[in-house]
Amino acid sequence: SAAMAGTEPEDDVTDELADEIDAKVTLQKELQDERKTLPVYKFKEELLKAIAEHQIIVVVGETGSGKTTQIPQYLHEAGYTANGLKIACTQPRRVAAMSVAARVAQEMGVKLGHEVGYSIRFEDCTSEKTVVKYMTDGTLLREFLGEPDLASYGVVVVDEAHERTLTTDILLGLVKDVARFRPDLKLLISSATLNAEKFSDFFDMAPVFKIPGRRYKVDIHYTVAPEADYVDAAVATVLQLHVTQPPGDILLFLTGQEEIETVDEILRRRTRGLGSKIAELVICPIYANLPTELQAKIFEPAPPGARKVVLSTNIAETSLTIDGIGYVVDPGFCKVKSYSPRTGTESLLVRPISKASADQRAGRSGRTGPGKCFRLFTEHSYRKDMEDETVPEIQRSNLASVVLSLKALGINDLVNFDFMDPPASEALLKALEDLFALGALNCRGDLTKTGRRMAELPLDPMLAKAIVASERYGCSEELITIASMLSAGNAVFYRPRDRAPVADAARQRLNAGNAGDHIALLNVYTEWEQSGHSAQWCLDHFVQPRTMRRARDVREQLGALLERVEIERRSCAGDLDAIRKAITAGFFRNIAQRRRDGSYRTVKSWRTVFVHPSSGMARVEPPAGWVLYHELVETTKEYMRQVTELKPEWLLEIAPHYYHNNNLNKPEPKKAKAHGQTSSGPVVAEKPSLNLKDFFDV
Ligand code: ADP
Ligand code: MG
Repeated sequence: SAAMAGTEPEDDVTDELADEIDAKVTLQKELQDERKTLPVYKFKEELLKAIAEHQIIVVVGETGSGKTTQIPQYLHEAGYTANGLKIACTQPRRVAAMSVAARVAQEMGVKLGHEVGYSIRFEDCTSEKTVVKYMTDGTLLREFLGEPDLASYGVVVVDEAHERTLTTDILLGLVKDVARFRPDLKLLISSATLNAEKFSDFFDMAPVFKIPGRRYKVDIHYTVAPEADYVDAAVATVLQLHVTQPPGDILLFLTGQEEIETVDEILRRRTRGLGSKIAELVICPIYANLPTELQAKIFEPAPPGARKVVLSTNIAETSLTIDGIGYVVDPGFCKVKSYSPRTGTESLLVRPISKASADQRAGRSGRTGPGKCFRLFTEHSYRKDMEDETVPEIQRSNLASVVLSLKALGINDLVNFDFMDPPASEALLKALEDLFALGALNCRGDLTKTGRRMAELPLDPMLAKAIVASERYGCSEELITIASMLSAGNAVFYRPRDRAPVADAARQRLNAGNAGDHIALLNVYTEWEQSGHSAQWCLDHFVQPRTMRRARDVREQLGALLERVEIERRSCAGDLDAIRKAITAGFFRNIAQRRRDGSYRTVKSWRTVFVHPSSGMARVEPPAGWVLYHELVETTKEYMRQVTELKPEWLLEIAPHYYHNNNLNKPEPKKAKAHGQTSSGPVVAEKPSLNLKDFFDV
């Protein structure tokens, strides 16, 4: 006992410790009081009663009413986890899952990862203790593979269902099915928008529980004429609001990390120039890849007298609620995924938002008092040009990945799968063809052993295939390194303007042999590892340490998965061709051939593309004749990102079902015909010999 050890427990409690405990108690009390002010609180008992009485409920409430943070806690408090079962709450976005879990852990006074945790791709912050689990919709989809009846969950909350992401839509179909044979499972579908009837209809007329929001009046201002440059206009508007308007924080919607970083920099420069003439402007960026330690900053109030401006992607449209926003600046754009089943290309494009999005964004300013929204587009374009609703992602995505997951779940009849909005049959067909070409499906459309292994890897099917193929080339170690680097984020290298030549030289060295970006990524990782994961090494080579640490985590998990799918971990000890062949086995459809004018033409779809300026291959002399690319991105032109040189013969060796040998190595004809086969390399086979009739009624 304590007495026997000679110290009474009280003796250990110093004054500082006592103060610290007091502070914690006060904070807990404040947090608990704050919880009671949320709109959902008043409906707690009613909501719990409805959940007790019905298996499936659709919950609708304004953003910020407390759906995400409170409802799982209510369920936990009401004993839904007493039977040892967990509560799952899915989010379309990783940042939302992490940030909300952190908040709920704080409210419950527990350590994040204990009773409350989160699980996102390549990052599992949960333990045996975890009963409230926030996760991305993709993570729950993967969990289905190991546990098709979701036996460890007592409640599943499909949150942010209105976002209609591809994975959410697939989940909706799957959980609906599970609910049928698990009457004890409670299902909550939570949505921020009012067209909840659609969800209710889908779940066989499930009751809709409405949480009346308090929304204050929002004054909407439009520009008189269209803005030529919305980034400039946004910066000017923010600064003007800051100097002319009464207190209230500003929320500016931008389309992505790069744009946010640009605006961040401009705002910093411009406000510095104004010195002490104006109040302080605290700039808080938030986007998907923002490091965890900076994510909490957006929720911190600005110091007295200062104003906060949050620069956000559409993550703050409904996923995250930031208190105290009085002004919204909305340029009216977002990045959307679009997919052409015909060419098989998926691209992220900056596009005008929908009316529904614009209204959601405006509403963010009227949560705690009357707000103002400044739309950087005209009233005419709002009324006449903008779509009413965003098209569900399932209707504009490459479906290969979800089709592979569904196949792995034993769902073969895709046409009759319970989709809320079915995808175009053309897109489904394309996904099946792609998976067939990758060897994941056989000609009857059944999952092959390769397909089963691919489905276990939480990666795009092409990358998964490259890893599976690495077994044959004896380079699985190298392939998981490359896959980790590709998955760890786009920012591997940085290039400070004032030291650009040094940075470029360092980069050039890592690009040794000009074998391509994939090999360069491998070199980066290998050298970093040899340096003992040194931060100094990163500094010396202009490599982002954060990306490297993340790559190491991802790699560790991929390594474990290799063992699970019984792929031997082997290194090819520098045989670059082996590595490139394995990559080709996954990416043989992403091939382009150089043309005399310096552009490239994709072999598959005859598109004119260019090497992305950030690629190490952009400055190689002589330029590569045939290249493989990881992805296409469209900005001013269509660019290939992550580019590696290959030999066209490999295509015939590795993907003979996809390429026919016609006129290999024949020079480009003097006058290229507008149409027809003028290719001087392998040509795409007319049609893969997949017998679709057997399983797909088109
Ligand atoms: P809903 O899901 O209905 O949109 P939430 O449960 O997300 O509402 O938000 C309820 C409240 O919790 C809001 O006032 C929001 O600002 C706050 N909140 C949510 N996440 C965090 C966080 N990570 N830090 C601080 N406050 C947060
Ligand atoms: Mg929410």
